[in-house]
Amino acid sequence: MTNTNATARYRRILVKLSGEALLGGEDYGIDPIILKRIAGEIRDLTQLGVQVALVLGGGNIFRGAGLARAGMDRVTADHMGMLATVINALALQDALESLGTYARVMSALRINEVCEDYIRRRAVRHLEKGRVVIFGAGTGNPFFTTDTPAALRAAEMGCDALFKGTSVDGVYTADPKKDPDARRYDRLSYQEVLSKNLKVMDASAIALMRDNAIPIVVFSIREPGNLLRVVGGGGVFTTIEDAH
Ligand code: UDP
Repeated sequence: MTNTNATARYRRILVKLSGEALLGGEDYGIDPIILKRIAGEIRDLTQLGVQVALVLGGGNIFRGAGLARAGMDRVTADHMGMLATVINALALQDALESLGTYARVMSALRINEVCEDYIRRRAVRHLEKGRVVIFGAGTGNPFFTTDTPAALRAAEMGCDALFKGTSVDGVYTADPKKDPDARRYDRLSYQEVLSKNLKVMDASAIALMRDNAIPIVVFSIREPGNLLRVVGGGGVFTTIEDAH
C-alpha cells in the first residue's frame, strides 16, 4: 500500500534532516549505522520513482549560533556551520552511492574540488535523471539555519512537499519531552504555526512554504522505515498546509 501511495502522491519531494538525525549513538559527528539506514530509506524512495532532494543540517558538528555564544565572530561561525552541512552531505552521498544510488552534492558555497556548485537548472536535471540531490552549505549566507534553504530549494525545485524529519513524530501543543499533556496536531495551517509560535521551523521557512503553497510534513526520522511510510501517507505525522 505504502509503495504505490508514495508515487501517486508525490513526484518530487525535499527531505530536510537536522544534523542530529545523523548522530545516532554518537555525541558528535556521524553514526555510520544511522547513515546507512537513512541512505537505504532514500534509495527505496527513489526506486519507487519519487525524485528526492535533501537538505541536511550541521548541528551534529557545528552550529554558528553556539560558536558565536562561545565568543567566535558570528559570520565565521556560520561559515563553519555551512561547511559542516557539506561534510554531512558528502557522507550521505557516499552512503547512497555505496548502495548503488546515484547522488550529487551541490553547494551554495563554491568548493569545486569537493562537490558541484548549486545551479538550479542542473539540480533539476539531476532529479529528472533519478539522482538524489543533496544541497550543502545552506543558502550560502550567514545568519540562517538550514530550515530556510530547505524551504528555498523546495520552492526552486518545484517540490510537491517538504518532509521535515525530527526526533518527534509531529508538531505538538508543547514540547512532548517536557510536558506530559502535550498533544500532537494532525493538521495545522501555516498561519496557525506562525501565530501560535510553534517551534517547527524558522518563520521565514514557514512563510516561504505558505507563499508557494507547498505542504510541510513533520515526522520522526528516528523510527526505522518511517520516511517511506510517511511519504506513502501512512504512520504518524503532522501536515502543515492551508485548507483547499
Ligand atoms: N548556516 C548558515 N546559513 C545557512 C544555513 C546554515 O550560516 O543558510 C549555518 C549556521 O551556522 C547553522 C549551521 O550552518 O547553525 C548548521 O545548520 P543548522 O543549525 O540548521 O543545523 P541543524 O540544527 O539542522 O542540524
